[in-house]
Amino acid sequence: MTDKPEYGSLHDGWIAEAFRCPLRLPYAHQDAHGSDVSDFEPKRIQRAFLSETFLRSQGVTPQLDSITPQQIHQGTLGGWMQQSIQSPLGYTRLPLLFRLQDEPWVIAQFQGRLWPMDQPVLRQAHLLKQKMKQYVVSLAYRVTCFQRAYPGVPVRAEFIFPSSGYFAKSDGLFDQVISSLGEAQGVGNMEKETDPMAFQEAFVRVSVDSAINELQTSGRWFGHYLSSLGYRSDTWGQWLQELEEEIMSLRTGLSNEEPYPFLPGRHCAQCRYRDMGPKKGCWADHQEASDSISDSLSRMHIFELPGHGNETLVQDGVLFVDQLESDPAADLPSAFTIPWRREEQIRQQTQHPKAIQEALLHQTLEQLQKLPRPFHFLDFEAVGFPIPQREGDRIYDPVLFQYSCHTWDGDASTDSMSLSHTGWLDEEGVTDPEAVLVDHLVSNPALQKGTIIHFSPFEPQHLRKIAKRWRKEGPPKGFEQANDSLQAWMAKKGGRNFVDCLTLVRDGYHHARMHGKLGLKPLIGSLLTSKEATEPITRLSAEQMGFPGEWLLEGGYEKSPVSDGETAMHTYLMIRMAQKSGLKEVSRASLTHPTESHAELIQQMKQYCALDTFAMYLAFHHWLRVGEITVY
Ligand code: SF4
Repeated sequence: MTDKPEYGSLHDGWIAEAFRCPLRLPYAHQDAHGSDVSDFEPKRIQRAFLSETFLRSQGVTPQLDSITPQQIHQGTLGGWMQQSIQSPLGYTRLPLLFRLQDEPWVIAQFQGRLWPMDQPVLRQAHLLKQKMKQYVVSLAYRVTCFQRAYPGVPVRAEFIFPSSGYFAKSDGLFDQVISSLGEAQGVGNMEKETDPMAFQEAFVRVSVDSAINELQTSGRWFGHYLSSLGYRSDTWGQWLQELEEEIMSLRTGLSNEEPYPFLPGRHCAQCRYRDMGPKKGCWADHQEASDSISDSLSRMHIFELPGHGNETLVQDGVLFVDQLESDPAADLPSAFTIPWRREEQIRQQTQHPKAIQEALLHQTLEQLQKLPRPFHFLDFEAVGFPIPQREGDRIYDPVLFQYSCHTWDGDASTDSMSLSHTGWLDEEGVTDPEAVLVDHLVSNPALQKGTIIHFSPFEPQHLRKIAKRWRKEGPPKGFEQANDSLQAWMAKKGGRNFVDCLTLVRDGYHHARMHGKLGLKPLIGSLLTSKEATEPITRLSAEQMGFPGEWLLEGGYEKSPVSDGETAMHTYLMIRMAQKSGLKEVSRASLTHPTESHAELIQQMKQYCALDTFAMYLAFHHWLRVGEITVY
């Protein structure tokens, strides 16, 4: 967050933090001054994409220049994205500001999705449901800034939802938007003609005026909510003033005479200031002094425990797992259920003598040993966006654009070096990336025998969906042979053997360092703590692994610039945008990405996907080597 002292001291970031909890403010203040936060925000491309499409659906060409105060006073028609407003209250960046014929100015925020038939029932009461409140408050702040900067200029507030009922009426709409967005970012040309009818019914507009009006005037729920967090104010105006004073005291270093009470609760579950390293962060700061176990270096927070009951425990003042009583260890269960993992984690944290460090169940090992060789560890990346890529697709329908596959003969003896890697990424922005990917995958001779291992049901489910569609509608032109192979792969009888690695982990593998979580990242994180498990990394080449081996040895996924599915999806959109707009030098685009070039983006994507499939290989290699174990 950046401060804007020459105007009012508030800004969007402060409002978002303060609405969740007043104790976040000092940490947010330290964050803003102490760290070098990257400008890259992958969701920015999604917001730009939505704004561009929405404005075109209204027959408006998006404006690239900043809007001027004169244009606002004169009521110039048009649409502006990401406009900054400095007001006596503070600073705000409006995601979308537009004015259509016969309408006042509208400040809009995009939300998830909505069925058009739900629009009439989405009244104020619905907008004030717990999940929506924070969005209403951030929009209310933006409207208040606008009103203070331009007193007397009529303005309305809206949420704009991509419509769940929309489906693409032709191929290529997605590429039309992404290419004009790319050209606009690169060369400032927004004059492309788009048929507004193509995007008609793509969005649902919902007025937030009455919810904001209620908040700014009476707002009983708001006063009640503020006092539950420990604020002294109980109206919108007082609260904004209280925040200004609080921020001023943080800036000047003069501590507030009346500190806010520490009231932990469900709002702490997703708070990034709760735990900021060993003995650092809000809970440690407020609890450590009075606690007898305060010497332990790092304490597991209650919200890190899997299973139910965490919120109630926190409300009862139990913040750390080591404050709980551990049950005596039972015999090993036949499958590791979530309640068992929860109890095991408590035993772990209370240093119970029977706490298990690592366990692989006999039946899981037996299952692994019986699987047909070789093993193919497969992972897909997919993109789902509010404007579908293919005619007939609905919004957010996922489309595959990348796969990675590691193939291993399944021999866990130390001298085996049989690992190989293959994959495909839509580098060229092809018309139907899914068809090309399927063709590349199912016609690969190396993948025709053995077991396909994936993490989550998505891979076989999506292949089944494509096979069904191609059976019904026929394959795309030129993919007839790929269709034959795909149908053979997915046949109920005699088709390929798929095994979900997530199910194997869920039912049969436990590692204390996974902290009860089941994802690939905790799995690889736990394996990286074992010299024995990581031994193959020292012997394999970067080509076999698909990424530099030091990444894993030096800190896992954090070394990869693309480190989760969402960033991968947005990075792919940048690649496609660059391709479709002819701008291969993505670094020229203002949707800044922390990379040098188009080629580098492509390499990062390939390495990220390879990391996922290598993680599964490493787990299988480790399991087959250690065999059935229970390590206390
Ligand atoms: S951990 Fe909870 S009490 Fe502490 S700052 Fe975060 S939300 Fe507030």
